[in-house]
Amino acid sequence: MSAGASMLRIVTTLGSPLFLVLGMKNSTVFESVLGVHTVGELLRHYPRRYYTRGELTNLGSLREGDHVTVLARVDLVRRIPLPPQRFGPRQGGRRERLEVIVTDGTAKLVLTFFARVTYWARELQPGRLGLFAGTVSTFRGRRQLVHPECEMLPDEAEDTRVVAELAAEYSTAMIPVYPASAKLSSWRIARVIEGILEDLDAGEDPLPADVREKYRLWPRETAIRAIHQPQERGDLEHARKRLKWDEAFVLQAALAQRRLAAAAMPAVPRPPSPDGIAAAFDASLPFTLTEGQRFVGEVIARDLSCAYPMNRLLQGEVGSGKTVVAVRAMLQVVDAGGQAALLAPTEVLAQQHYRSITQLLGPLARGGQLGGAEQATRVALLTGSTGAAARRSALSDAFTGDAGILIGTHALLEDRVQFADLGLVVIDEQHRFGVEQRDALREKAAGARPHVLVMTATPIPRTVAMTVFGDLEVSTLAELPAGRSPIATHVVPAADRPRYLERAWERIREEVADGRQAYVVCPRIGGEAPGEAAEDGADDDADSGAEGETTARRPPLAALDVAPELAEGPLSGVRVGILHGRLSPDEKDRVMTAFADGGIDVLVATTVIEVGVDVPNATTMVVMDADRFGVSALHQLRGRVGRGRAAGLCLLVTEAPEGSPARERVDAVAATLDGFRLSRLDLEQRREGDVLGATQAGRHSSLKMLRLLSDEELIAFAREEATALVAADPQLTAHVALRETIEVLLGPQRAEFLDKA
Ligand code: ADP
Ligand code: MG
Repeated sequence: MSAGASMLRIVTTLGSPLFLVLGMKNSTVFESVLGVHTVGELLRHYPRRYYTRGELTNLGSLREGDHVTVLARVDLVRRIPLPPQRFGPRQGGRRERLEVIVTDGTAKLVLTFFARVTYWARELQPGRLGLFAGTVSTFRGRRQLVHPECEMLPDEAEDTRVVAELAAEYSTAMIPVYPASAKLSSWRIARVIEGILEDLDAGEDPLPADVREKYRLWPRETAIRAIHQPQERGDLEHARKRLKWDEAFVLQAALAQRRLAAAAMPAVPRPPSPDGIAAAFDASLPFTLTEGQRFVGEVIARDLSCAYPMNRLLQGEVGSGKTVVAVRAMLQVVDAGGQAALLAPTEVLAQQHYRSITQLLGPLARGGQLGGAEQATRVALLTGSTGAAARRSALSDAFTGDAGILIGTHALLEDRVQFADLGLVVIDEQHRFGVEQRDALREKAAGARPHVLVMTATPIPRTVAMTVFGDLEVSTLAELPAGRSPIATHVVPAADRPRYLERAWERIREEVADGRQAYVVCPRIGGEAPGEAAEDGADDDADSGAEGETTARRPPLAALDVAPELAEGPLSGVRVGILHGRLSPDEKDRVMTAFADGGIDVLVATTVIEVGVDVPNATTMVVMDADRFGVSALHQLRGRVGRGRAAGLCLLVTEAPEGSPARERVDAVAATLDGFRLSRLDLEQRREGDVLGATQAGRHSSLKMLRLLSDEELIAFAREEATALVAADPQLTAHVALRETIEVLLGPQRAEFLDKA
């Protein structure tokens, strides 16, 4: 039943489009369900597990709502008449349902059929083995699959020659079980892949022979065949290792090319000056720099003095003082006659940076103005909502070079923004930006490349840094400035303990009575048409498992509902404000300013406040439906309190039952303030593909087999080998197969972008 049987027998390659091999109708299903378009992509849809005949699925472990494929033996078949009154007189005849009990030897599962009862009764003979796929439901306390898809394995008892052959095949071979859905069963995928493998020529191996030999890696084609059709368990380990190497090596080779290309670019050196604005700034700082800030500062100062562009990632906990480090770098560039641009992910954050940086600089930011210092420069702000007059003067100051520092959002990327001499690009909170944006801004420097500093508060495990930010050098601010108060985090189980929630509101009233402020964070804005997604809502994908399908839950709490409820209920008399992504930039700024000035006591908000918002007087945060947020988001949110001298308190409200994965996530955030541990946890729960960020969004992820956390050693080896190979042959002229694989794996846009670098 080879799908390509009707066509000419031509060899299939990894690049063959699926429709050529499967035909239009078939390939459409595969494309829509699995998102695969080529043979290579389909062959990277790897089995989730394997069944062998002797080993039946543990039926006791099935969870309601899961879409499952199980291997089990038919135990009992019963035809049960349906009560006649449930069917109209028209129906007449005998109505019955078929109940088939299948077993793994201990636990049982019911298969229920209401149609084609006679057919299924004949197919599902007691004693026979089959694969059954469907969604697990519960009926009268028993687990069941209603109208499962069935694939009977050849009967051992029958002895016609064909069946005997098939039986022999099945009893030695392992049966692959693929991630599947109601529209596309695991065995349909298996059949198609089987057919493809018959005609496959996987082409030249992208991994050089010496690397293969050194790490004892199988040839690629052998690994591809073995992962889909292992002859024995031992095959899998070899196949997996080899396929992981492919992913790691290809990615690292691409990154090595990019690093090499970047280092070959000329940049203008911007060495520090002993008595410029940077020195004046240091002297005026109201605090002493931490050890880490000083150290990273020196590293950056050296980078900026080089004739090739800096590409550095600065990571540090929320509140670790990255902004000061960035300001010092920007001032060094200004001293050397250049300009710096600071790109922030949101309007709110850009405005806040502008406020805090002009404040930190004081007279140093009032170049050409009355009261300005001698070395002073000018700081300009440019966002989508900057008014016409202010915009004109910001654009002109950037163009003439009067503004040493330009702060803004995406608006900075527009064509009409032109710099006299852009020397440094600082990007705050990298995870919100794609690599492309980094490039767009970079291109605003005429001639030479600007230096680039990327800042992130989401700590990145080593291997992720190596993989996702593999073209950047990494620096870390490990300590928080002294005098920072710790944040206490508690879980409030709203369903079991409503009294705790009441206590949370009392606590906020007490804080407000003491002159402090609080945030109440909700996962959704509210007020949208049914089914419409909130643009700045929480990420809700963290708990969708590989196999499970999400079950219906109540919609997450909305800021627009919660705010009035609080204002009229538990927080009556307290000044409550609302902040969310659907407000106009002007309104947002007004609300943030009112909150910062103390005109609002409690701010009910969505995750718009997640990044960088700094109001030291806000000491308490209540996160509603905390389980609807990802681990990193919760950690980021929590960083908004405890920024002043008073101790911070974060209350994570959740209705998720104890022990559920959602609840465990919330518990983990409450249990530690260690961002690195949390980011590891976050990564374990998300798929690596998500980590690759905007470039990969919506695309077929380039990492299928590789696990960034557990494959740390392999990634390090692959990086070493790939870097050496690229250093010796930057254009990969002697490694055509590798070059082609990079293009296929990373997609055409990505490859183009690598060339551009
Ligand atoms: P991040 O961006 O890393 O979250 P910020 O740069 O916003 O942190 O710094 C948080 C707060 O700490 C700011 O108000 C900043 O002025 C202050 N700060 C920075 N460095 C120090 C330091 N060395 N000592 C005391 N306060 C500091
Ligand atoms: Mg910051």
